[in-house]
Amino acid sequence: MAANGRTNGDYDVCVMGGGPAGTAAATFLQRAGHRCVALEQSTFPRYHIGESLIPHTFGPLERLGLLPKLRESHFPEKFSVRFVSPDGKESNPFYFSEIIPGEMSRTWQVERSEFDQLCLDNARENGVDICSGVAVDEVLFENGRAVGVRTRADENKPREIRAKVVIDATGATTLIGKQLDLREHVPGLNKSAIWSYYRGGHRLEGIDGGETTVFMIADRGWFWYIPLPDDIVSVGIVASPDYLFDEQEEFEPVFLREVERCQPLAQRLTKAERTQPVRGIRRLAYRNRQIAGDGWVMVGDAAAFLDPIYSSGLFLALASAELAAKCVDEALKSGDISAARLGSFAGELTKGIGVIRQLIGAFYDPTFSFRGFLEQFPDQRAALIDCLVGNVLEQDMSSFQAALASMTPPPAW
Ligand SMILES: Cc1cc2nc3c(=O)[nH]c(=O)nc-3n(C[C@H](O)[C@H](O)[C@H](O)COP(=O)(O)OP(=O)(O)OC[C@H]3O[C@@H](n4cnc5c(N)ncnc54)[C@H](O)[C@@H]3O)c2cc1C
Repeated sequence: MAANGRTNGDYDVCVMGGGPAGTAAATFLQRAGHRCVALEQSTFPRYHIGESLIPHTFGPLERLGLLPKLRESHFPEKFSVRFVSPDGKESNPFYFSEIIPGEMSRTWQVERSEFDQLCLDNARENGVDICSGVAVDEVLFENGRAVGVRTRADENKPREIRAKVVIDATGATTLIGKQLDLREHVPGLNKSAIWSYYRGGHRLEGIDGGETTVFMIADRGWFWYIPLPDDIVSVGIVASPDYLFDEQEEFEPVFLREVERCQPLAQRLTKAERTQPVRGIRRLAYRNRQIAGDGWVMVGDAAAFLDPIYSSGLFLALASAELAAKCVDEALKSGDISAARLGSFAGELTKGIGVIRQLIGAFYDPTFSFRGFLEQFPDQRAALIDCLVGNVLEQDMSSFQAALASMTPPPAW
């Protein structure tokens, strides 16, 4: 078998998916003394969307030991975010250093093929067995408890790998969510995304050169503009499917039409050439009714994905992996791998994602503005900024949430 010759039943933990969430969970658990295997269907490096980090990713990256590699990488450093209105009016850049001291006040714009490879190599260096090109077909259950997985390798021969705990880190595939019929739409949140890459897009000077620029469009939709290495920029639109696909269904003509319509963005691309095909996702948001069960947990996008507006995906992938790994470690050491024990991180994670859900609702509410919110609740400025940099876990955000709810109805969560 592929995993260092180990035989079935050898693993404490089997992680499905070798993306950032899966490799982080496996790294933390392997370090805690558990034998881990990570099964990844593709062969790295592989393409992935989701390039902009937020400052609070610093903590998990530091504990994973990845900071030295990021510091010496060629990824553009991101110090700020700026918003541009549909008529081209630019906000002042929001510099993270205004509220976060020291090194955490900058983060990175990452090319995911490289970033995910760093995470995967790091897991391997920490002793995780990495099996690439191995897709999981299903999780095996005995008496309602997950006991392992059935995989399909390149040669297409099914094989069983048994483990005490199975971690679903399959991203939007949501393998357990689909197998157990736990996946559902997020009420009131229905957005699509379409994106591509350009070489030679206009770059701002100095420390603004790595900023994320958000170009607002009509219909409360928006474009991201994310500088990447080698003079490449990632450009993508998020908006309601009713708006995007009103005239045509195909991603490319809709994307090119929208770039042309958004003149402040189009001007940055006048000398640029497109380097990749146009890709898209018709329905972004989903969640699962349950994120842990007997013998299994979900981490990262396998648990839920809402919307890219706050660039919280990779932070939540790594943070959820760390929270879950702590519970899995304690559960394995206690010999109790029940849903209650394994899932004791779920409340905190769901609460944090709930705060982000509420902020996403506010962003897309045409009657709401953050400027108006801060005029009415100046004492909530620090809490708002905490949310924007990812400081939403292990915090009581109830007074912030109540203030927000008084100006925009809180969405069902
Ligand atoms: C349009 C868009 C824009 C985004 N922008 C940002 C952004 O700017 N910043 C940000 O932080 N986040 C962003 N995100 C979110 C970010 O991409 C994700 O949150 C992040 O990739 C989650 O990591 P993960 O490890 O949970 O899942 P993934 O990175 O998706 O990794 C899952 C892995 O599991 C593997 N896999 C799947 N099925 C199987 C199987 N059956 N067997 C074995 N392996 C399997 C896949 O090949 C993959 O490698 C964006 C997302 C979208 C859709």
